[in-house]
Amino acid sequence: MPSFPLLFDLGAQKPTTRDVANVVRAGGTAALTEAERRADQARYQEITCRSALNRVKGMPFEWTLNPYRGCTHGCHYCYARRYHVQFEMNADDEFASVILVKKNFVEVLARELDRAAWSGEYIAFGTATDCYQPIEGHYKLTRRSIEALVRRRNPMGLITKGPMVVRDKDVLLALAKVASCTVYMSVPTVDEHAWELLEPGTAHPLQRLRAVRELVDAGVYAGVLMNPIVPGFSSSAAKLERTVKAIADHGAKFVGCNVMFLEDGTRAHFMKFLEREFPSWLPRYEKLYEKKYAPEDYRKQVQGMIRVLQERYGVNAREREPHEEKPTEPEQVGFAW
Ligand code: SF4
Repeated sequence: MPSFPLLFDLGAQKPTTRDVANVVRAGGTAALTEAERRADQARYQEITCRSALNRVKGMPFEWTLNPYRGCTHGCHYCYARRYHVQFEMNADDEFASVILVKKNFVEVLARELDRAAWSGEYIAFGTATDCYQPIEGHYKLTRRSIEALVRRRNPMGLITKGPMVVRDKDVLLALAKVASCTVYMSVPTVDEHAWELLEPGTAHPLQRLRAVRELVDAGVYAGVLMNPIVPGFSSSAAKLERTVKAIADHGAKFVGCNVMFLEDGTRAHFMKFLEREFPSWLPRYEKLYEKKYAPEDYRKQVQGMIRVLQERYGVNAREREPHEEKPTEPEQVGFAW
């Protein structure tokens, strides 16, 4: 038995994601039985999945892997918040406190990779959840999935804010030897105040950078995405410079950045957060984010500053992966590569 509480009395048969959605629709998350709150307020629900490989459109990659749903890191800008709404859960507290664990994920993935129709395309890992959030220490779904990719010699890029990724440097290196493997550590800023406000459940930014150092020293191709840069919180020239310098000092192989975008549940959540914490900023934000993206001029200005800083501190821009043929509209976190 796992040593942390689950939402359901699971019995022999794990509920599917649809079962979970139905229960929540009927009675809210309070209707989920056997629920206890962990010290960190998260509740975990084991579910079974029918597929692991997820096809996406409009991204620089076609296939993604996400062994968990929801993320205890709880970043206020997280675009994945809006996906929780599909399960009748809200994009606010429930995104960060009700985590679905796809218990049979690795077995399903191994079967899918074995199919004759699978041609070994590039896979983006961790695009809608953090695959190294704390519960990974228990389930090891991410580690075991990478082992499956090594066996099938399948290229992969992985994004995380979790220093736990260093635990898996052996399998990451093994994958690099037989296919290709890039680790994108997400460190939007090293500014402590912005970090505490925006990413309440994540490891300290310098801890993440130390993880990058450890991966690079071990021979893993690892760099940093400053995604997303959040206007007013982490966008000043001084904060950008401190962050790029720290990234360079930790030996990252590359740095990239994108300015935050907002849509659907993520937009609603972020605006509520601003209203609560920084009400005087709301009118400016509503103007800046009349649309999904901040105005192009603004984004170009930020990207321009980062280019200058890359040169100043001698850290490369992120190289385009072979599967990326043309630049795409900048997005944030997992979508921005
Ligand atoms: S941005 Fe990443 S780390 Fe933060 S809540 Fe979303 S999935 Fe988790």
